[in-house]
Amino acid sequence: METEQPKQKSSPHVLIFPCPAQGHVNPMLKLAELLAIQNLHTTFLNTKYIHNRLIQFNDDIQALLESYPKLQFKTISDFHDEEEHPGFGEKIGDVLVALSLYGKPLLRDIIVSEKISCLIVDGIFGDLAIDLAHEFGIQLITFRTISACCLWAYLCVPKLIQCNELPIRGDEDMDRMIRNTPGMENLLRCRDFPSFKRVDKENDHIILDHVVLLTQQSLKANALILNTFEDLEAPILSQIRLHFPKLTTYTLGPLHHHLYTTKKSSSSSSSSSFFKADRTCMTWLESQPLKSVVYVNFGSITSMKREEIIEIWHGLLNSKKQFLWVIRPNMVQEKGLLKELEEGTNKEQGLIVGWVPQEEVLSHKAIGAFLTHSGWNSTLESVVCGVPMICWPYFADQQINSRFVSDVWKIGLDMKDVCDRKVVENMVNDVMVNRKEAFLKSAMEIAKLACKSVSCDGSSYNNFKDLIEYIRSTSP
Ligand code: UDP
Repeated sequence: METEQPKQKSSPHVLIFPCPAQGHVNPMLKLAELLAIQNLHTTFLNTKYIHNRLIQFNDDIQALLESYPKLQFKTISDFHDEEEHPGFGEKIGDVLVALSLYGKPLLRDIIVSEKISCLIVDGIFGDLAIDLAHEFGIQLITFRTISACCLWAYLCVPKLIQCNELPIRGDEDMDRMIRNTPGMENLLRCRDFPSFKRVDKENDHIILDHVVLLTQQSLKANALILNTFEDLEAPILSQIRLHFPKLTTYTLGPLHHHLYTTKKSSSSSSSSSFFKADRTCMTWLESQPLKSVVYVNFGSITSMKREEIIEIWHGLLNSKKQFLWVIRPNMVQEKGLLKELEEGTNKEQGLIVGWVPQEEVLSHKAIGAFLTHSGWNSTLESVVCGVPMICWPYFADQQINSRFVSDVWKIGLDMKDVCDRKVVENMVNDVMVNRKEAFLKSAMEIAKLACKSVSCDGSSYNNFKDLIEYIRSTSP
């Protein structure tokens, strides 16, 4: 008599697919490396354009692949030629639309050829992978690279529209309080609500509606990964869990520090920059006194007007504090402005460069404050290093992140919607001199909690163990 053999479980193979933007690739690659350390077969999928940049500007990418035989990179077309590619900045929407229209068959081919058993897909892709996960009977996990508070704000939008609290009615409406956001009552003014208006003022509410729709679609997945930690956003996480009880929410952050702590042996994780980092800044920082430098960086997307750059510049000069300022090659349109800034800055006071190894810069002992656009990765990187922030948010989640920095965590000041040299000067002096001790104290307390969360038995550490167990147990 024939006995039926129990079906052998194949070893899991995870596919990680980030949105082709710097703030998405960075944390999702950290997760890929963490999975590879756990000996999980992991494929990291990039668009060709992004893959080429990673290879071009990061010498250590090859070493990363050699360290983990079970980690591999694959590429997918984004349906744009190299010559007329919209890049990864404000026009990224064009790439996302193309991927959502034509990307599914390509993704399907990869699932088949690589025998993928679990998809970890950027939530910005909405429902791109849902049908595929159903078709192959595999797990779909949504990864959101934004803060939990921003994700929650997006989820509150339909209710806010129903209660007539949204859309925002012009500039004169900006100080009105938004009320129907459980977990953050009496906190958000209209100006603190996630916004896209700097990119497209006319259609801001339409863009927000679309982002909300993609967010709702992406939460039809089996589970959710967030790059945050329980102690940082507990009341917000409770709301998300309360409203989405079937969605297991894994907080694994801060992921860059999670990886660093897991690897222990080496000082830094491999970089995934889209630009070549200028390391001369590290030598310059070595010559600066303890906590004396304001580090200024507005991330990988922000574009600035001439007037804004000039105001920030004078504010920094007038503060009399040393500064390290990153001005990306594609950040200012006007030729000659960079030269003007470089020539007008006393080398003893300020250094201006095109791109830096940010995690390394923030952990340097000479850094006293971070003038930031409040991107979520930058915020977490500053939190881990206990560096107080001065926030000048540009768009999307940055408006709400900066509110949390200033009014919830109290680890910095929010310059929101103002770009004035006197304000810059005063805020730099408040954070670096007048209120230095108070800011440093709260920043150090939160930094300790961040480190605890990724250490043995911390919340992110334990959640990661649970995630691994989940991936292994649900693998077909
Ligand atoms: N970054 C960097 N060097 C730079 C500027 C940025 O390494 O000169 C990294 C930074 O450490 C962070 C990411 O790029 O991990 C930017 O992500 P964030 O969410 O802060 O902002 P975005 O660029 O998405 O607006």
